[in-house]
Amino acid sequence: MITRFLGKMFSGRLFGPAQPGIIPLGAHGIGRNAISQCASRVTQTLQREGFAAFVVGGAVRDLLLGRRPKDFDVATDATPEEVRGLFRRSRAIGRRFRIVHVMCGPETVEVSTFRGANAGANAGEEGGARVADEHGRILRDNVFGNQEQDATRRDFTINALFYDPATQEVWDYHGGVADLKRRRLRLIGDPESRYREDPIRMLRAVRFSASLGLEIDPATRKPVRRLADLLANVPPARVLDEMLKLLLSGHAAQCVPQLRKEGLHHGVLPLLDVTLEQPLGQRFVMLALRKTDERILAGKPVSPGFLFATLLWHEALAKWKAYEGKGEHPVPALYRAMDEVVRAQAEKLAIPHRFTADMKEIWALQPRLLQRSGKRPYRALEHPRFRAGYDFLLLRCESGELDKEIGGWWERFQRAGEAERSQMLLKDAGPGRGRRRRRRRGGRRDEGGGMRDEGASKVEG
Ligand code: ATP
Ligand code: MG
Repeated sequence: MITRFLGKMFSGRLFGPAQPGIIPLGAHGIGRNAISQCASRVTQTLQREGFAAFVVGGAVRDLLLGRRPKDFDVATDATPEEVRGLFRRSRAIGRRFRIVHVMCGPETVEVSTFRGANAGANAGEEGGARVADEHGRILRDNVFGNQEQDATRRDFTINALFYDPATQEVWDYHGGVADLKRRRLRLIGDPESRYREDPIRMLRAVRFSASLGLEIDPATRKPVRRLADLLANVPPARVLDEMLKLLLSGHAAQCVPQLRKEGLHHGVLPLLDVTLEQPLGQRFVMLALRKTDERILAGKPVSPGFLFATLLWHEALAKWKAYEGKGEHPVPALYRAMDEVVRAQAEKLAIPHRFTADMKEIWALQPRLLQRSGKRPYRALEHPRFRAGYDFLLLRCESGELDKEIGGWWERFQRAGEAERSQMLLKDAGPGRGRRRRRRRGGRRDEGGGMRDEGASKVEG
């Protein structure tokens, strides 16, 4: 049943007539030149036309923390249509929230119209503009409001700060600046209702606390465990979006254990428990997350497919080994394991095909990289995903799952000239187990070490 959301709790009446704390330049030190060109242009144009316009959200927060904002958002009292009318290069986007993207050169600034925090106040004129489901989750919200209401509908106090580039003032309705100073992450309003409105805020709490080094306020933290299951009602695309933000935040190594601590992983990475409960899996995942964080913080690209491949590998490995142990041919055993893991993951949160395709290629390369005789290493080198497969193999070595010697061999093999390469080729089929007998296709494999030889060459097809 879909009901109208009546957010009386967040009305100005209960919180009192909020006066923003207005913090002058001298007290915060953020000059207008800290604002991107496009955001400056957008606020100037809007203000010249008589509208209110502020830089808002993450950019103000990041500047106050002395960090470089990723992007700039602007909040205004102009309607989306009015904004569209002022900027030639702009387009309206969003259904849940109607916002306008304004483009200047390569930069895009997101412009949103102040939103009402209290549906009751606008219900007469905007009937049905805010719609919630039976758990209180807001499905659509296009009720416009004033600046104070806009501050109140935002998630955390530190995300509800407005900066006016004209006056160089920070407007703070909810004590966000003080929270930043004492490094507290605090939801605006009643935490349980705010999570019910939008369960994604639970994931955001974990991400912001880990990536900004903030402690989650006890009242903000308390209901999370109990409400974690509400994530199941959120459209998967949004959950995935927020999960990617979390994994690519540069602080995944803190975020992922924190997700688990709060019980939030059940709905997003259901297989994580199994992996993290065994030392090898734990070491592998943490190593992978730390390397990902390092790459992100160094400004290098990372591939979500690779990341998901690491998060799910030990589950795939366990299944693969189990099928192999039952006498199944290694290649079909691996493929069956991969499919099952992807399917089990999809029951909670389907990873898009573009990522799972990558993931499977990386996994399928693993047995091939154990092949170090004949032409196989040369063929592996030519594989378009060799680099990812090799990086993955190194993680396996470093975490103690595989002998480090294998990773070292590949490192040398890549650098070596032809003469050295042919010297390096192993005479036997396996990774240094002294097995010389050639096996027939479909014959019995020896145990351990994964699959080798003919089995692996079939993976190419
Ligand atoms: P970052 O971009 O660094 O991840 P951000 O705070 O800018 O952080 P965005 O997702 O870009 O996050 O959102 C911009 C602003 O919109 C936030 O600062 C917050 O004020 C508001 N906001 C975003 N998501 C929500 C939400 N789920 N509930 C309430 N307010 C939100
Ligand atoms: Mg942002």
